[in-house]
Amino acid sequence: MTLRPADSSALLVDGKLIPGSGGTFEVLNPATEEVVGLAAEGTAADMDAAIGAARRAFDSTDWSRDPAFRARCLRQLCDALQSHIEELREITIDEVGAPAMLTRGPQLEGPIEDLRYWADLAENYSWESDLGNATPMGIPTARRVLKEAVGVVGAITPWNFPHQINFAKLGPALAAGNTVVLKPAPDTPWCAAVVGQVIAEETDIPAGVVNIVTSTDHGLGAQLAADPRVDLISFTGSTATGKAVMRTAADSLKKVFLELGGKSAFVVLDDADVAAASSVAGFSVCVHAGQGCALTTRLLVPRARYDEAVAATAAAMSGIRAGDPSNPGTVCGPVISARQRDRVEGYLKLAVEEGGTIVTGGGRPADRERGYFVEPTLIAGLDNSARVAQEEIFGPVLVVLPHDGDDDAIRIANESPYGLSGAVWGTDPDRVNLVVAGIRTGTLSVNGGVWYSADAPFGGYKQSGIGREMGVAGFEEYLETKLVAGPA
Ligand code: NAD
Repeated sequence: MTLRPADSSALLVDGKLIPGSGGTFEVLNPATEEVVGLAAEGTAADMDAAIGAARRAFDSTDWSRDPAFRARCLRQLCDALQSHIEELREITIDEVGAPAMLTRGPQLEGPIEDLRYWADLAENYSWESDLGNATPMGIPTARRVLKEAVGVVGAITPWNFPHQINFAKLGPALAAGNTVVLKPAPDTPWCAAVVGQVIAEETDIPAGVVNIVTSTDHGLGAQLAADPRVDLISFTGSTATGKAVMRTAADSLKKVFLELGGKSAFVVLDDADVAAASSVAGFSVCVHAGQGCALTTRLLVPRARYDEAVAATAAAMSGIRAGDPSNPGTVCGPVISARQRDRVEGYLKLAVEEGGTIVTGGGRPADRERGYFVEPTLIAGLDNSARVAQEEIFGPVLVVLPHDGDDDAIRIANESPYGLSGAVWGTDPDRVNLVVAGIRTGTLSVNGGVWYSADAPFGGYKQSGIGREMGVAGFEEYLETKLVAGPA
């Protein structure tokens, strides 16, 4: 089988690959601005059918009661996707503008391999545990706790790391025994549609267990959140949309799981190698053109070393060219769309209006005539109250801020509506640990440690989200708990 997104991709509804009843829409390559093919335009009627199929598959098949079968299906899906890995790589580079280098990790190969982790968890998880005997109200009672799938999961995903996020929902939701309706972002329909094709044509996953509805209509996400046949919404995207999803889901009181935005701090303490640490911050904000919710976008350095840190960071960032994502050396490709580029450029203009200085970057790369490229940009001369230090920009843009010691760094890091990620660099472990304890955030890297892996829970404090993705904690988001009490 050859993956066939270019002519026209399909929806996956009730085990069948079907055209969208709204026709098709164009898929753009953000590095070239060219139309690379068509995706199926799903409508409200298609979404209704997909939800109905997922409900039927959950209510009337053994899927939720057969973890061994689910594990086999997930491994089969993993093998099938791996057999198409070069086609998938090409699609991911073309559609997402993802640097080829990243497709060997979190943009493609990592999340596909992680399907084995979810398969293992389905097999090895303690689905039933003995709570022991008790005598509530004088009645001798034996108690058991059962873990069961929640039901129909509505998965709504963004465009920045589409495979990582789609599989971080499909993997645990399916391993836990749920059925799923996936609604990917309008900018990256193919990354989801090809998974639908592989599921339909190369796996034994039963009809209706996975349904995929691509569309340009954001309203289909709201439809999924509103439908009472859906038991849980697993959403990744912006904080504003996450709030809307939560409001919509409230009417049917469904469980919501939210992975949202971030404005994470990279804290350099005064006993660190300030120049080296700052350079790391400068490099990391350029990865995938800064389109990562957990990237550190505020660099906090000791006030007395501010100029040194700015110079080192600027040197690191000016050495990174925003370029062709298919080039194996590229770390900073295009941003996803003209709209996103305009948004980033609007923030660069705002930084100057707010009194900041663009130390390096600030424009479009001179050597790229087409494509939505933004130069890696360092902003200095502002404090943490500036809008560019408070709001998520989602481009290769770093704001460098001075701090007056460890407590002040904690204060500044926490002066944000977000709490998704962060980094701390320092040599004294006691001081580092105090800073780690002080920052209200779901994930922290210390001195370059890497937090991303299938078994590592990831998620946000404050307005960065509710719940955890990945790991056992992520798996349990997709489970209900049933207490069974019988005679002792
Ligand atoms: P977005 O919020 O605009 O869209 C996300 C998804 O929600 C899309 O599929 C969209 O069609 C859908 N949607 C839009 N309006 C909706 C509504 N009213 N009801 C239901 N669904 C709706 O986000 P985006 O621009 O695609 O992605 C970028 C954002 O995602 C950034 O804010 C980024 O920080 C965040 N993000 C968070 C994480 C995380 O794990 N915390 C990971 C990646 C991206």
